[in-house]
Amino acid sequence: MKRRLQDAVRERALLGDGAMGTQLMLAGLEQGNCGEAWNLAHPDRVLAIQRRYVQAGSDCLITNTFGGSRIMLDRHSHADDVVEINAAGVRIAREAFGHRDGYVLGDIGPFGGLMEPYGDFTEAQVRDAFREQAQALVDAGADAIILETQTSLEELRLGVIAAREAGAACVIGSMAYDVTLDGSTFRTMMGIDPERAAAFMHEHGADIVALNCGTGMDMERARQAVIRYQQATHLPVMAQPNAGQPKLIAMKVVYDETPEEMVKGVVPLLEIGANIIGGCCGSTPDHIRAFRQAMDLFHMAKRVS
Ligand SMILES: [Zn+2]
Repeated sequence: MKRRLQDAVRERALLGDGAMGTQLMLAGLEQGNCGEAWNLAHPDRVLAIQRRYVQAGSDCLITNTFGGSRIMLDRHSHADDVVEINAAGVRIAREAFGHRDGYVLGDIGPFGGLMEPYGDFTEAQVRDAFREQAQALVDAGADAIILETQTSLEELRLGVIAAREAGAACVIGSMAYDVTLDGSTFRTMMGIDPERAAAFMHEHGADIVALNCGTGMDMERARQAVIRYQQATHLPVMAQPNAGQPKLIAMKVVYDETPEEMVKGVVPLLEIGANIIGGCCGSTPDHIRAFRQAMDLFHMAKRVS
């Protein structure tokens, strides 16, 4: 039987993947359209993106199912396709690995609204949506479930419980932090700091604590977040920050960190014991290839010394 991800990463740090959303845009997805529906309509294009990450050296692929919950898909009139879209997402990622061993992380993003009393959604609606999506991902063979770009502990809790109940072999909670205006620290949009998030995830049964995306969260901020996580829990830590800051150039959003710039943050993350390293928005196969080289050199040097 395959080793659980949370066990494998304790021995050796693994490489995650890069962005899906910005790559889908490059492949022709229009802003505001449903990228997850491409798992059924254009599986070849999703596969091509994930194959490039595997060729660049990714050990883990996150499925193209970020907005694959019933609540999110309903906004694009795809609510009837929840199971098919999520199952296809797992299938495509597995196919991208080919004969290589790799971990398929079933992706669950935020449901995209607020729960009562602040918003229109009941807790039961959100719980049911996460349950349905988590079950579809696990049934299709995902090695882990990642609840990503989370900002609220209430929503995260529902996601973690849903993934556990679905029988996921590994549950990853991943928070999106924003650097505060004065630049002194970072917390989620809902005001959660990393220590609190890590302790909460640990308490609710997550296997890996993570961070991704966020505003102003570069590799150095990710390193700080990993250290703060490690002070709150002994669980493995995963970091997938953006490739710098988004900029609008010729009506296109581009991220300003090149692979050469971003890769400088990889060894500092490895030195403090980060267990999975990858990229979020704006990161490309070229970023991931640079990460792979840096990680391999680091591991080689460790073996020699
Ligand atoms: Zn992102």
